[in-house]
Formats: sequence, C-alpha cells, structure tokens
Amino acid sequence: MKRSALIATALLILVLAGCGYDRSATNAGNDPPTLAGGSAAAGVVAVTHGGVGSPPEWSPDCQAAAEVAAGHVGSGSGALDGAVAGTVVMENIPRFNAGTGANIRLDGHTIQMDAALMTSAGEFAAVAVIERVRNPITVARLVLDTPHRMLAGEGATRFAHAMGVPDEVPTCPEAEAKWRRRVAALLRGEAGGGYDTFDWRRAWNFVGPIPSPADTLVEDHGVGDTVGTVVRDAEGNFAATLSTGGTSITLHGRVGDVPIYGCGCYAGPAGAVACTGHGEEIIRLGLAREVYRRLEAGVSAQEAVREACAGFPVEWSVGVIAVGRDGWGVAANRSMAYGVVGE
Ligand code: ASP
Repeated sequence: MKRSALIATALLILVLAGCGYDRSATNAGNDPPTLAGGSAAAGVVAVTHGGVGSPPEWSPDCQAAAEVAAGHVGSGSGALDGAVAGTVVMENIPRFNAGTGANIRLDGHTIQMDAALMTSAGEFAAVAVIERVRNPITVARLVLDTPHRMLAGEGATRFAHAMGVPDEVPTCPEAEAKWRRRVAALLRGEAGGGYDTFDWRRAWNFVGPIPSPADTLVEDHGVGDTVGTVVRDAEGNFAATLSTGGTSITLHGRVGDVPIYGCGCYAGPAGAVACTGHGEEIIRLGLAREVYRRLEAGVSAQEAVREACAGFPVEWSVGVIAVGRDGWGVAANRSMAYGVVGE
C-alpha cells in the first residue's frame, strides 16, 4: 500500500474511533442538567436557548440574541418582532443548528429546515422542510400574513423567494463537519435515535447515493442545536419563535416537532414556551402546549419547565424555556446554552 493510502486509512480509523453518538438525539452523554429561573412580575423579558446539548460556554451568543430581542421590544416593537429578531441572531451563528449552521441531511447535500412562531393572541405560523433560505423564521413570519398557517417543502421555498427572500444555501464548514461525524456514526451502526435498528439503507429516499466511510474524514468542530426565543413585552403580550435544521440523522422530508402546532412552541395569555430535543418524542407529548397548560394553572415558569424535563423519557434529550406572567424558566436534562434579559 502506498504511504499516502496508509496515512488515509490510519486517519479514517482515528476519526471513526473518535466519533460519538448523536448527542442531540439521545441523552447518552454525561452533561449535567440545566435549571435556572427567576421572577419578573413586570417589564420586558426575553429568554433564548441554543438547543439541548449546547455547552454553557456558548451562552454569550444566546445572551446577545436575548439582548437583541429585548432591544427590539424596548424600541417599540411587539413581543413577536422581538422573538423573531432574537432567533435570527442565532440562525446567523454557524455553531447553532438553524439557518447558517443547519444540519446537512444524510446525503451530504440536502438542507431542510423547520421554523415556527406563536403569539399570545393565538396566532401561529410555520414552515417545514424549507430549503435555500438563510433565515427560516423570517419566512414563518411572512406566512403569518397569508391565509395559511403552514407552508412545506418546495412550496415554502418558492413562497420565500417570491416574497423577496434571497435564494441561498445556508451552510458553513461547521455544518459539514457535523455531517461527516454523524454519518461516520451511522455507518458504524451507532447513530442512535432508532437508526441502530432501522433499515435505513432500504428506506434511502435521496437522489444521491449512500455516503461511503471515505466521505466522513474530518476534524470535529462542535455545533449546537435548534434555537428558540420567548419574549414578554411591557404590555404583557407573549411570543415564541423556534428554528431548526432538524436532527442530524434523518431521511429526506423528515419533519420534527418545531413546525407542529402545540409541540415545539406555544404561546397564550399566560406565557410563551419553546422546546428543543428529540422531536419525535416532543410531538408524541405535545410538549410545548403541556408546559403552557402548567403556566395557565398558575405554576411558575421555572417549575413548569423543570417538571416537563423531569417527565421526559430519560433516554431522550430535551430542553424547554418559558416566560410567564411572574417570571421565566430554563430547564434541560443535559447542558444547554441560554440567555436572559429582564431578571
Ligand atoms: N427538536 C428538533 C427536531 O427534532 C431538534 C433539536 O431540538 O435538537 O427537529
């Protein structure tokens, strides 16, 4: 074997040995859980999250997003504009799995994103499996002004471009590195999320071929997950926004919890909620609406998010942020970067 081939083989073995499970899908890591909260009976509150599994060292990015959200509200915009602005900040930061840093699907090319918003007036809008836009949450905001509640797939993408949103593929080296790491785990049969037993080769629904181990050589840059923002404005109106590139090991066309009503985010007169974690389980539990019901029943935001995470199946990762009439809360069953304004 030539020297270059030997080096390539050795590198491949090293990379495969160093690749871990999809930390966004399972709770197999040893990260400590996250729990925070505070009271805030009046004034503007903005809380953001960088996705369950994101390390606390990334909280300054989430804090910057929370400050942008609160700044919008402080300058006269409503809670919804603030919540959209906060999520846009994080969509533009490559380390998060949303917009620019959105996960690349299994074929190594496809990027399909979900985003949603809801207000305390009961307005809801979403996009699902949208492609070729940098900020899916701004497209969800545009959907709010149509007679529809959700646009999906090619229709959502065409709608965005028709409305003047630039046609661009939102990716970055961090997202590519994450894809290589996750595909390496999949090829080893260690992808988690049900893919260790699921016959994904038979179900392959991409146009391109299944990637080979040689495609997975890469240095490991960590990237985070779904991003979310909840806001209360000075008048006591609430809004929640959420944006994601989906979980990293998914077939073409997979839709997670984010754009499903009552699942990824929820808002009403009692508060706003935004979730992150294993989307299939969040859908099954209708998690955001469940947390909202606790707020409505008078449970504090901190206790409501803590109970939701404690009740989530331990084998899956989950994180929830919420703001209510009396305060805010952040909880996750592992690490999660977050930001808060209005404590
Ligand atoms: N909940 C997201 C989804 O399933 C992923 C995440 O929050 O990490 O699409």
